[in-house]
Amino acid sequence: MQGNKIPDILNAEFLVSSPDVSSCPEGSKPEYAFIGRSNVGKSSLINMICGIKGLAKISQTPGKTRLINHFVVDDDWFLVDLPGYGYAKISQREREKWRKMIHAYLRKRENLVCTFILIDSRHEPQKLDLDFMVWMAENQLPFVLVFTKTDKLSKRNLDDSLNAYIRHLRLSWEEIPRMFITSAKTSRGKDEILQYIYENNELYKGYLASL
Ligand code: GDP
Repeated sequence: MQGNKIPDILNAEFLVSSPDVSSCPEGSKPEYAFIGRSNVGKSSLINMICGIKGLAKISQTPGKTRLINHFVVDDDWFLVDLPGYGYAKISQREREKWRKMIHAYLRKRENLVCTFILIDSRHEPQKLDLDFMVWMAENQLPFVLVFTKTDKLSKRNLDDSLNAYIRHLRLSWEEIPRMFITSAKTSRGKDEILQYIYENNELYKGYLASL
């Protein structure tokens, strides 16, 4: 794709927050979900990709943080901000409720094309993230990894951190998932993610047309 400019998103709007998959809007467009531990940089990444400051803020307002938040992008696809996992201050009961809600959404949402799992590039592989990837694979749900906040590391430390992550994955995974290296500060990775989404939108449309 070098030399070809990836078209920016022209319009992204918050659509609705849903408490469970059955209340989500009609799955009339290809959908991409974003998930990760709290504070991983999910809101910042969504705002960076969409080019709209404060877009994902709505998902962080009290009461909306435990909901499935849908955004419509260019009237063509849905971006979904899923509640973060790994909150320290949440009861076992709440955690279980979250797990059920997210798992049902991921398994049942038919127009969900791919889930972006966000990982803080400064941290070593975390059990919560790794367990979630295993669950996704067991359920044959496609996902990619997005390494966030890479501007906080020198090139060398970033390379070391990514290589350590890949080495860790290789211990138990035959295939290493697709990875995106991003920074909400410098917009690194924006074009790659958008290109990936646009390509998948075309594949999805082709698939629908073939039915
Ligand atoms: P969320 O809880 O996953 O939605 O995380 P936020 O997007 O709210 O980010 C958590 C903190 O990390 C905030 O202070 C952000 O400003 C900061 N942050 C997020 N992404 C980046 C990034 O790419 N680079 C830097 N330097 N800081 C970031």
